[in-house]
Amino acid sequence: MKYISTRGGQCVSAATAIMQGIASEGGLFIPQRIPLIQLSEVLDLPFYWDVAAHIMHLYLEEYDIDLLKNMAKDAYASFDTDLVVPLRRLCGNESVAELWHGPTMAFKDVALQMLPRLMRCSADREKNDKQICILVATSGDTGKAALEGFRDVEGTSIIVFYPNNGVSVAQRLQMVTQEGNNVHVCAIEGNFDDAQTALKKAFCNTKLNEEAARRGHILSSANSINFGRLLPQIVYYYTSYLQLCRQGVIKQGEEINFCVPTGNFGDILAGHYAKQMGLPVHKFICASNQNRVLTDFFESGRYCSRREFYKSMSCSIDILVSSNLERYLFELCDGDTNKVTQLTASLKDKGEYTLTGEQLIRAQEEFVGYCCSEEDTLNTIRAIYGQQHYLMDPHTAVAQYALDRYREDTSDNRETVLLSTASPYKFATAVLGAFKTVSKDDFENVEMLHQLTGTPIPAPMSELKGKKELYTEVIPLHELDKYILTNLK
Ligand SMILES: *Cc1c(COP(=O)(O)O)cnc(C)c1O
Repeated sequence: MKYISTRGGQCVSAATAIMQGIASEGGLFIPQRIPLIQLSEVLDLPFYWDVAAHIMHLYLEEYDIDLLKNMAKDAYASFDTDLVVPLRRLCGNESVAELWHGPTMAFKDVALQMLPRLMRCSADREKNDKQICILVATSGDTGKAALEGFRDVEGTSIIVFYPNNGVSVAQRLQMVTQEGNNVHVCAIEGNFDDAQTALKKAFCNTKLNEEAARRGHILSSANSINFGRLLPQIVYYYTSYLQLCRQGVIKQGEEINFCVPTGNFGDILAGHYAKQMGLPVHKFICASNQNRVLTDFFESGRYCSRREFYKSMSCSIDILVSSNLERYLFELCDGDTNKVTQLTASLKDKGEYTLTGEQLIRAQEEFVGYCCSEEDTLNTIRAIYGQQHYLMDPHTAVAQYALDRYREDTSDNRETVLLSTASPYKFATAVLGAFKTVSKDDFENVEMLHQLTGTPIPAPMSELKGKKELYTEVIPLHELDKYILTNLK
């Protein structure tokens, strides 16, 4: 299978798409066609990694399936459950898929434990002898998950940029205490969108790339602009569905909904690909916090990033430019790369673009957007804990609120899988705030949350306490390229 760019031009192998991360003219790689799959092909596969290998192989046909299976098995050995993504049934035709059982307590691990392995294997296929330097912009969770995934992986190094004062205390600590010989972490003056835009520029900066190559490096991305990030995310849409079948909650073939807290549109887009592959999905509920750019988009067809940026307690979805939407736009434009290029240029130059009426109708058939205020996030955490004794992190609560509104607005009572994207302990201060006055000390709040709810503190959280901070540098955006070159080793 070949991979093409959403903006035309490049047509490359899967290995190149994964290694390169982003197409040279700034477009995103997408598979030339979406493979189809029958549920029966995966229904009886015993383990998560079996399903993962089966699905990934459909997109990476030239890779050896046993190799993929071994990579997946290795990747998910770091999770605290063999199910990898366990499903927890709540009242009201709702199941929560817990995507946070990996080493950094957020859903990014599912993809970022896999990506370094895919990248190594792709580099081998391409007979690449250069050092792969992974550049990451993070709104909080990707950074740590990528650092954990790539630390000490031979032939790679990684540099993470995070918005100064734009991530939670635990998120920052997780990153700046990172060990490993091939890692760098740096704060930038600006928000996540600034960091992401600056990095996209860096990837397309010929001079920078040439200079990196001269020093024996190629630059690549571990953000969800890399298709290798999306691919492992398709898997849990399937395993969640299969678990529901096995539990007898739904019949094979029955349509369900997924409700997803959304920032860069990567997670939910993976779901869309699962649906294209044949998974019976009725609706994707796209949940935003007060940065409601996607809610407005699915309501009106107008995408407008020219608006105030709010810092919220669900900070991993504080995003105004959802990169992966470009992949969906490609479909809405029926593969017309000129149209995609026009729309993305308009977004860049004017901060907005608008779909045609017909495109909007198509988008609304599959997606519906809802947004959630800070106050409603806290109310939802409290209410769900009170009613169901289930503790949600702020991102999951944003999704729960969206689902509740969707149920109110429609008579759709289909089984709905809520994607829970972070452990409540990763956002302990915010979560505790739903119940009582919090302390200034994050670790005290972790302890108090534990005492209040009796839920176990995840090991990666306890281990964080007392670790040495290794990276304290803060740089202005214009020094990003310089920082990269200085740290190519
Ligand atoms: C990254 C992240 C999201 C959003 O996922 P996208 O693919 O960017 O839409 C949601 N919740 C948490 C906790 C995350 O880390």
